[in-house]
Amino acid sequence: MKDGTAAPIAYPAPEPPEPGGAVEIADGVLWMRLPLPFALDHVNVYALDEGDSWTLVETGIASRKTRAIWQAAFDGPLRGRPVRRVIVTHHHPDHIGLAGWFRTEYGAEIVTTRTAWLFARMLQLDEQDRPSPETVAYWRAAGMDRDVLAQRMGERPFNFADTVAPLPLGFTRIREGDAVAAGGRRWTVRIGNGHAPEQATLWSDGGDLVLGGDQLLATISPNIGVYATEPEADPLAEWIESCERLAHHATDRQLVLPGHKLPFTGLPVRMRQLLDNHVGALDRLLDHLAEPTSAAGCFQPLFLREIRGGEYGLALVEAMAHCLHLWHTGRVQRTITGEGTWLWQRTT
Ligand SMILES: [Zn+2]
Repeated sequence: MKDGTAAPIAYPAPEPPEPGGAVEIADGVLWMRLPLPFALDHVNVYALDEGDSWTLVETGIASRKTRAIWQAAFDGPLRGRPVRRVIVTHHHPDHIGLAGWFRTEYGAEIVTTRTAWLFARMLQLDEQDRPSPETVAYWRAAGMDRDVLAQRMGERPFNFADTVAPLPLGFTRIREGDAVAAGGRRWTVRIGNGHAPEQATLWSDGGDLVLGGDQLLATISPNIGVYATEPEADPLAEWIESCERLAHHATDRQLVLPGHKLPFTGLPVRMRQLLDNHVGALDRLLDHLAEPTSAAGCFQPLFLREIRGGEYGLALVEAMAHCLHLWHTGRVQRTITGEGTWLWQRTT
């Protein structure tokens, strides 16, 4: 909103659907949920009514449990009609995990961005029994806690193939500005970056709905991380650019259907918060970096709370993203220790 009277964030449907069940969140749009075995314990999926079939948005991770829930959904809220198309917003396993299964088992078309498809297929094929030397070097560079590092070096790392079904060749590409017809609506594709490269969001032309993926979440801030794949990346710059660009399209009329947590209205306010969260974190971090510090030493100013076991990995890659952003923008310098850990320090 340009007049400064943006509406507060609201949640018109505070009761999420049961596994295998669905809530009709808008005309012709079913909201469903699939469980995740992580701290964030669910992903939202949406089924768009095509009359004689369905278009799904997101698919959940590949597991026996999620396949069984889909089976229940086919017989239940999907009323026995086939899934002919799956739209995937980005390459993370909770979104693309079963896309290959829908393609192979049910002949569904996979629709996603080129980067999402390439990343997912590359990582799905890259199975490792132990962390690669590049990953270990990256963890050292981030200053990973010695005990955590020693433990991780001796065990099988998280592999995409563990939670992503094989992706056969063949997908349909969507890109910025494309029009997609689905579920009786026409949607415009807008690309976001930062949480995942080339993430698709879909904005209905009538202005009533936005499929937000993990780019537009309400109560949690999407993870912005740097990984060994691209260890000098600056995804935070891309996140900030995306928020500023997408904010121009936000209105108080839109109901946002996000990848996690509850559907919400009040997108203009939320876009501002998504930006301000990081601007505030960067200011606190800069204060903290009066003395040379590793990324792992920056949790307190960044997250303002203690980081526990299951959160450690995500916190570390996010801390690196913030340090690297300050470095890319010339606000900190860095030196490397004998152990290969970057120490970051304010330049002024
Ligand atoms: Zn994601």
